[in-house]
Amino acid sequence: MSVPIVRTVAELRTVVAGWRRSGASIAVVPTMGALHEGHLSLVRAALERAERVVVTLFVNPKQFNNAADLAAYPRTENEDAAKLVPLGAHLLYVPDAEEMYSADFATTVSVSAISEGLCGAFRPGHFDGVATVVAKLLLQTSADFAFFGEKDFQQLQLVRRMVQDLDIPITIVPYPTVREADGLALSSRNLRLSPAERTIAPKLASVLLDTAERLARGSPVLPTLDEARAAILAAGYREVEYLELRGETDLQSMASLDRPARLLVAAWLGDTRLIDNVATSPIGNWPDSQRSVEVEGAKQLRR
Ligand code: AMP
Repeated sequence: MSVPIVRTVAELRTVVAGWRRSGASIAVVPTMGALHEGHLSLVRAALERAERVVVTLFVNPKQFNNAADLAAYPRTENEDAAKLVPLGAHLLYVPDAEEMYSADFATTVSVSAISEGLCGAFRPGHFDGVATVVAKLLLQTSADFAFFGEKDFQQLQLVRRMVQDLDIPITIVPYPTVREADGLALSSRNLRLSPAERTIAPKLASVLLDTAERLARGSPVLPTLDEARAAILAAGYREVEYLELRGETDLQSMASLDRPARLLVAAWLGDTRLIDNVATSPIGNWPDSQRSVEVEGAKQLRR
């Protein structure tokens, strides 16, 4: 058994048109490959929601601001295809860069506000590359649903904004971050960690969770974030690019926790850049019994 693979927009459209004629609903799961359990969970969720599921596999050069990072990105098409077989995914779409971007390609999709700050501040052009490729993938597949992980929270909110602004007829479905047993968020980049780094890595998630709980219980935002940055460095991370509290949907900066929020981080462990985020919201004077329920990060890590 294998998953059918198409490599051109024309082939993709032919398959999708056949599905449409038979009245099937369609979901797409965009990925850059090196599939892990996080990706596979998205595919399973997509298979529950729609009758046909396309997984896309494209290492998008436009979203890499660093040539070495692009070159080092794992490419494991055969293994990825094999992992999709037992799930029952219906199609793997694997365009190459020339198929996606013709020599005279001239269009950039840019989503303001939400793409500024956080990863946008440290990876110039990254979110323009993401928005442009995601717009193309959504239009090429003309799917009814597209699944995105909360692991890349800024990307998820940017895609939602773009789809709304451009009237792209698709429902964006978020999926919670899938983690290792020790809390480390699954990521293709985890493959790059040395054994010693791998033991340090989960500290990022545990500091995030502790910090989300402290904020929810009323700790003042700025000093609490300073302590969290210090704890990440003390654990052995080389640099904290950002650790910020932002509004859940608009990703605006928050000086105090007065509405549902996300705590988002990017940090370097040796030569590997890891990102993570957890939800938090104010508890106020709620009884103790409700407190743990309110800290969404805790729920995520327990899952
Ligand atoms: P990527 O291949 O890294 O571009 O990721 C493809 C999709 O999988 C994106 O929507 C990611 O947010 C999602 N994803 C990656 N890692 C995880 C994870 N640990 N849990 C849930 N979704 C994830």
